[in-house]
Parts: sequence; C-alpha cells; structure tokens
Amino acid sequence: MVDSTITAREQVTSSKSLLCELLRQFYQLGWCTGTGGGISMREGAGYIMAPSGVAKERVQPNELFEMDRDFAITNLDSLENKKVSECEPLFRAIYEKTDAGAVIHSHSVNIVVALSHEREIPGLSWERLEMIKGIRGAVYTDKHVVPVIKNTPRECELTESLTACLEKLPNNAHGIFVRDHGAYIWGRDVMEAKRHAEVYDWLCQYKNATTR
Ligand SMILES: [Zn+2]
Repeated sequence: MVDSTITAREQVTSSKSLLCELLRQFYQLGWCTGTGGGISMREGAGYIMAPSGVAKERVQPNELFEMDRDFAITNLDSLENKKVSECEPLFRAIYEKTDAGAVIHSHSVNIVVALSHEREIPGLSWERLEMIKGIRGAVYTDKHVVPVIKNTPRECELTESLTACLEKLPNNAHGIFVRDHGAYIWGRDVMEAKRHAEVYDWLCQYKNATTR
C-alpha cells in the first residue's frame, strides 16, 4: 500500500511552490514588479517568507526563508540571498495582532491611485457593492473601511504606525493601505489572503473609475 501521509517537509516544499506560483501571478497583475511587494505564510509552527530586492516573478522555492515561531531564520545555510523581505517586521506585526495565516504586500497601482484622491482621509470606504462580500465577515449593506497610513522612506519604518493601526482595526478590515505605496493584506490562509487582495484591488479600481 502506498503511504499517502504528507510529511512536514513535503508540506513545506508544497507551500513554497505555491508562494512562488502566486508571486508570478501577482507580478502579472503588477502587484510586485520592480522587485517590490512580497508574500509570507504560516507553515506548521513557523513561517515562510520571500527574499528582499529580487525579481519576485523569478523566485524559486529554495530561495524562500523558513522561520521558527519566533521568526528566527532556520535555513540560512542553504540560501544564497541572505536578505529576508524588507516587510519582515510588518508581516510579523500582522501575525502577532491578527488571526492572519498569510500576508501579501501589494504595490497595486489601483490601490495607490485610489489613495491619491483624498489625502487627508483616515481610510478608504465602500458600501453597497456585491464585491465587498469577498472580504471575510463583510456584509453588502455595511460600510467597509480600510485604514490608511502614511508612507516612510524605509519599509521597516512603517512598523510603528502599522502596529498602532492594527490595535484599532475597523470591523472586518483585512488590510492596511499605505499612501503613495500600496497595501498589506492578509487572510486566515494564503488563498484567503489572495482573495482579499483581489477584492481590495477591484474595489480600488471601482473607486478610481467612479471618482472625479
Ligand atoms: Zn513596498
């Protein structure tokens, strides 16, 4: 009889392949071109994270970082690029403050343009759009709000304002937008994070098409 049990190692390998596949998809969507953007997910008791400053559409499974529950890198010896994603402290804050099982950092132009319409608003909001239901817990008739923080010269310098924002997240928000920059979007698992990223992208595209 064939043993169909998936070992922990096989599971890590499969998750890494999935993250590389998603990076290629996100590159096609313009969310992680120019080496920007990033992705990470929980795996077992730890995490998997993308490397920094590389062409995201070309990342191979053996280039991804493995981390333990305390975010200590456990596969450094096998990696050529030793620099983990610049988003690491931001991903970490989101894992610590929410039920996220995966986090996507998107440089979507739809989101950046939507953020440029009104510079003083505390958040972007939508209501009475069927697409809102794609966000877990969100209801068609409710106003759905995603908070916005200001950009900083270095990605890691966003950590303080992002963490403060996570403390008072609006109902059902599964993202934080960064003005002039993009968004951090999460879900219970990687496929939910992907869905949320697609929904927020759609909602921003809609806002851009209807805002004069
Ligand atoms: Zn970025």
